[in-house]
Amino acid sequence: MNTENVDILIIGAGPSGSVAAGYLQKQGSKIKVVEKQKFPRIVVGESLIPRVMDHFDEAGLFEALDSYGFEKKPGARFIRGKEICIFDFSNKFGEGWDWTWQIPRADFDKAMTDELQRKGVDIAFETEVTNVEFNGTNSVTTIKDKNGTVSQINAKFVIDCSGYGRVLPRILKLESPSKLDPHSAIFTHVKDVNRPDGVEGTQISFDIIETEVWLWVIPFSNGNTSVGIVGPTEYIDKLSVTGNTEEAIKNAIKLSDFYVKRFDKLSFEFDPIHLKNYSVAVSQFYGEGYALTGNSTEFLDPVFSSGVCFATESGILAAKLALKQINGEDVNWEKEYTEYMKYGIDVFTTYVKEWYTGNLQELFYHQPENPDVKRKICAVLAGYVWNKENTFVAKHHNIIKNMAYMIRENKMDS
Ligand code: FAD
Repeated sequence: MNTENVDILIIGAGPSGSVAAGYLQKQGSKIKVVEKQKFPRIVVGESLIPRVMDHFDEAGLFEALDSYGFEKKPGARFIRGKEICIFDFSNKFGEGWDWTWQIPRADFDKAMTDELQRKGVDIAFETEVTNVEFNGTNSVTTIKDKNGTVSQINAKFVIDCSGYGRVLPRILKLESPSKLDPHSAIFTHVKDVNRPDGVEGTQISFDIIETEVWLWVIPFSNGNTSVGIVGPTEYIDKLSVTGNTEEAIKNAIKLSDFYVKRFDKLSFEFDPIHLKNYSVAVSQFYGEGYALTGNSTEFLDPVFSSGVCFATESGILAAKLALKQINGEDVNWEKEYTEYMKYGIDVFTTYVKEWYTGNLQELFYHQPENPDVKRKICAVLAGYVWNKENTFVAKHHNIIKNMAYMIRENKMDS
């Protein structure tokens, strides 16, 4: 059997694996990426948030990605009936990027891996990791290519960026139930032939159908738009009696007064994809000789587009710490990796939960707007969830709940 030796093996070439690979390639490490699918491939996760730009930059991918002309995303709009709440990232609290992209992930992920390959990163596409065995920090990974040929990779460290493939969580039995309520989604792309001119046409928007149900509209620079519906699993299941995803998304579009005319009569670019009970979690983020990143660890909810950001934040950080360890330096994985990542995840978990309780929606639509509150929430939505100078980060556990309570009390008094 063919056997290769590398310092760091990366499983999966999504955003998490790509930024990890880009960073390690820049440092001159001996790495290999193993990716199960052939790119381009369809995957969800099309609305980015500004913090990811720091990661693409650090991974040496920003310039290449910028040259593709992906649609720029300067903020996001939340629609509730006649009420509109727009966040403009240039008005956020604190430092950080003011914009990002909204992207068809098939093209975006292909753009990243093309650039990595151009830089000399060894990526084995259409090759699946089937097993990993650890002996201390060293490991032997078994892979199988599209022809069925089996080979092995000896690595000093494995970064598992396999997303919902969840390679190491499955093998090492690290999967644990999510603390969030079961929610599901159905999405597809349309040729957006009714797209209005100007900002209205390209504006990324979330239309609130009910407190826990919302439609996403993500226009791309290629003329297509992603349309998706999210809600409690039972609600999404009832959108089609027969389980037909096309019927379900058509019914979902009809629920949106704002978008029904624009999308009602359009056909779909691919069969709508149903992602059932999408939230996942794990019991630990690392172990001897490995780290889990991105969706291989936790996925919360799409409502604030935090998925790719956590994938790249954890991908870069795991790469840095793995390299330190291989170079003989001490790494406190619990503190430097788990605690750091969990802090950000905890902040976003509060925002997701408070969105679905309706408390955060009270703050979004409260009039007159409080510019200070808005700037601070905007910084969270931009992904800057480690900036404890922001009271909407540092006091996230109570601040939304308390402010929503005060707003409701005032409404009752007036
Ligand atoms: P992925 O992008 O999934 O990449 C993992 C890769 O690993 C895949 O290419 C896969 O083929 C490969 N792989 C799997 N198994 C193996 C194996 N055995 N061997 C080798 N390779 C393997 N995030 C956002 O930021 N914005 C959004 O708007 C957004 N919307 C979402 C909507 C829904 C309904 C859902 C469910 C998620 C959404 N997300 C969103 C989350 C986003 O999709 C993920 O968080 C993100 O793609 C995770 O990136 P990743 O690199 O960890 O995994």
